[in-house]
Amino acid sequence: MKTLLLDLDDTLLAYSAGVDDSWVEACGAVPLSVDTATLVAALTETRKWFWSGDPARHARERVNMLGAWTKIVAEALVRCGCADDAVAAAIAGDFAARRRAAMRLFPETRAVLDALRARGLPLALVTNGDVRQQRDKIERHDLARYFGAIVIEGEFGCGKPDERVYREALRRLGAQTDGAWMVGDHLEWDVLAPQRLGLTGVWIDREGAGLPAAHTDARPQRIIRSLSELLG
Ligand SMILES: [Mg+2]
Repeated sequence: MKTLLLDLDDTLLAYSAGVDDSWVEACGAVPLSVDTATLVAALTETRKWFWSGDPARHARERVNMLGAWTKIVAEALVRCGCADDAVAAAIAGDFAARRRAAMRLFPETRAVLDALRARGLPLALVTNGDVRQQRDKIERHDLARYFGAIVIEGEFGCGKPDERVYREALRRLGAQTDGAWMVGDHLEWDVLAPQRLGLTGVWIDREGAGLPAAHTDARPQRIIRSLSELLG
């Protein structure tokens, strides 16, 4: 390993942990004309539809997360028969604040980054999504100092799995694909797309769930459950 590209959300940072609870709490914190449980159920369905139904929508909306959350709540309120843009904005804002306060690095992240940096390994952070959200996470968790390059979709103009993203990270580090590894939780974005460029792809499968059914032919060079395994 001569160079390492790392994903942020659900790789360094526990991004998805507690999301459902945060939605329940946000719905409970705003006065509603509908039963909270009814709205929460509608939100669960709407979130699934919003993020899974259409890859183009996913790509378009993930660079403005507060806007996306507001649209999701607004649609859920419509489905409950009580459309209200002000309530949608209030719930989305409350949810955003709860997520920001709750998000934590994984327990081993800091020690692993310290160890990799001590070895002098050039590191790049390669993350999709909203530039304000991602910059805020990087700052809050004091991550910038580890990385010679930080490529954020909302800033760079395109995201993983576009090959320009990985090439840009390597270019900024002055590195080649030879000896470059990428580690992340998203099989396509963090493993398969980098592998097609000649990088070594490492999939982090924290739950030990194994390869998803749609990707049983995927061949990550390594599958790890914790970042600590990178130090072995
Ligand atoms: Mg991720």
